[in-house]
Amino acid sequence: LKKEALKYAKELEKEGNEVFISASPCFGACDIALEEAKKVEAEKIIHFGHSKLIDIKEIEVEYVEPKIEIEKELLNQLITEASQKIRFKKIGLVTNVSHISQLKEIKELFKRNGKEIFTANGERTKKEAQILGCDVSAATKIEKEVEAFVYFGGGLFHPLGALILTNKPFFVIDPFQRKIDEITNLREKYKKISNAKISIASQAKTFGILVSTKPGQFNLEKALKIKEDLKKIGKEGFLLVANTFDFNEISNFEVDAFINTACPRIGIEEGERIKNKPILSVEEFYFLFKLLNSKDS
Ligand code: SF4
Repeated sequence: LKKEALKYAKELEKEGNEVFISASPCFGACDIALEEAKKVEAEKIIHFGHSKLIDIKEIEVEYVEPKIEIEKELLNQLITEASQKIRFKKIGLVTNVSHISQLKEIKELFKRNGKEIFTANGERTKKEAQILGCDVSAATKIEKEVEAFVYFGGGLFHPLGALILTNKPFFVIDPFQRKIDEITNLREKYKKISNAKISIASQAKTFGILVSTKPGQFNLEKALKIKEDLKKIGKEGFLLVANTFDFNEISNFEVDAFINTACPRIGIEEGERIKNKPILSVEEFYFLFKLLNSKDS
């Protein structure tokens, strides 16, 4: 989207606006360029590429959501093929914001192919069936009702979170690669990685607690609580604050492990970046906490 930015800026300038383009990296709708906007005294932020996630009180934010229309013939072909490949009848359907405009059509096609489709609204997300790397509740909420999940969209970033937090067979329909894959087996791999991280962290004495200042990732209260809870299990925590974490930088801190209160995907996507120093999610930390606490009592 940064490639498109100059074009949008020119259009807005023609309308008489002074336009500042955020050159900071942007990872999602959690990552509104608020600090930049305040510094340049902007009156409005236009955020491209994501749907609204959080309420920003300080300044008006307009969201320009992405929309990808898959050609009807291809859509029909993919859903028919997926319906034949997936032997389950009750399907939990999830997608990302780019495909929401075709959700109704996708559901209809599945129904015509004999499937029963279940969807839900997430906690952080605003649209039916929409999942994010940090909110897969549109999947977990319907898990009891379905026999399998289908994610419609490209890449593994979104479905991976839903795969890890559910226990049903999981399929991906990728309209860009024009293929249907079952990714259920990947779940075991991530569970093993998670167990290994917890095991290494159980030996750690000092922890860096990652706190991001991004508006939708700022979880200071959680971080402070973790610091207190670390003391209860005889460990020491240090609060590490940044907007975007640079893993080369944080690897210089002499701590044995990290606990991440920012984007929950950091530990999954970047987990291997710091050698022998696991990055635990908040859930993984509390799993370890319970384990060590029960041993002590
Ligand atoms: S917190 Fe992470 S997964 Fe959630 S919107 Fe931000 S970048 Fe995406």
